[in-house]
Amino acid sequence: MAEILIVEDEFSINELIRRNLSLTGHRCTQAFDGISAVTLLENGSFDLVILDIMLPKLDGYQVLERASKTPTIFLTAKSELTDKLKGLAMGADDYLTKPFQMLELAARVEAVLRRTKKAETEFVLGDLKCDFESRQVFRNGIAVECTPKEYELLEVLIRNRNIALSREKLLDMVWGYDFDGGTRTVDVHIQRLRHKLHLENQIRTVYKLGYRLEVHE
Ligand code: CA
Repeated sequence: MAEILIVEDEFSINELIRRNLSLTGHRCTQAFDGISAVTLLENGSFDLVILDIMLPKLDGYQVLERASKTPTIFLTAKSELTDKLKGLAMGADDYLTKPFQMLELAARVEAVLRRTKKAETEFVLGDLKCDFESRQVFRNGIAVECTPKEYELLEVLIRNRNIALSREKLLDMVWGYDFDGGTRTVDVHIQRLRHKLHLENQIRTVYKLGYRLEVHE
């Protein structure tokens, strides 16, 4: 769990980001203009800022100038290289060009948090524990044998928990784009995980789409 500040003046985008990052276990604070962002950054302690460039009062660059100690992911509507370079030169850790997919944002967030050592190192769900560093799964403290693909599938479900993931997306994320097998592979592995880890009630089938790991935190 990380403390994340979302700075975006478009309410619907800010809210969408907040909802998605909250579902994946992060605590989010929202700001809708540059001045309040700087105030929050000066008085709070955040692990990450998601910072839009075009903001009222102070723009994203000015916010970054005044509060550059916090790891930052820039949001930009502009795809011009100079904007990206300017942001990165000023110390931003990454940037995303709007419109972006929530899965992409979640992946960037985890990557930055991992680099800055704020990423989750383990995940506990009832009597189940997943250790991301040793890539091991424990049930009541006893290691459960998982194949590398079963483990990766579980980790993807955990890191994107409460989000519906299509079979195609899971196939891309776990097996890679060049994998020849069909989406049936995903179903087979999901069945094995459900059975092996007693997650029949938590790994939900999403009708006509795929799967979702349901966790109430
Ligand atoms: Ca904006």
